[in-house]
Amino acid sequence: MACPICGKPTRPEWRPFCSKRCADLDLSRWLGEDYRIPAAGEDEPDDDAPAPPDGEDEP
Ligand SMILES: [Zn+2]
Repeated sequence: MACPICGKPTRPEWRPFCSKRCADLDLSRWLGEDYRIPAAGEDEPDDDAPAPPDGEDEP
């Protein structure tokens, strides 16, 4: 059986999903929230402006 969110194999602890992330995602969708899939699997803040770690190339 595959995760209905991302298609990865499910984990027994998160059945029918593969992870807490997908379970939360499905829950959020179910609740009607406008939720977008995190890219790297971590909660990232909305970053419209990139935050360079070092300002070497900054004027
Ligand atoms: Zn998944």
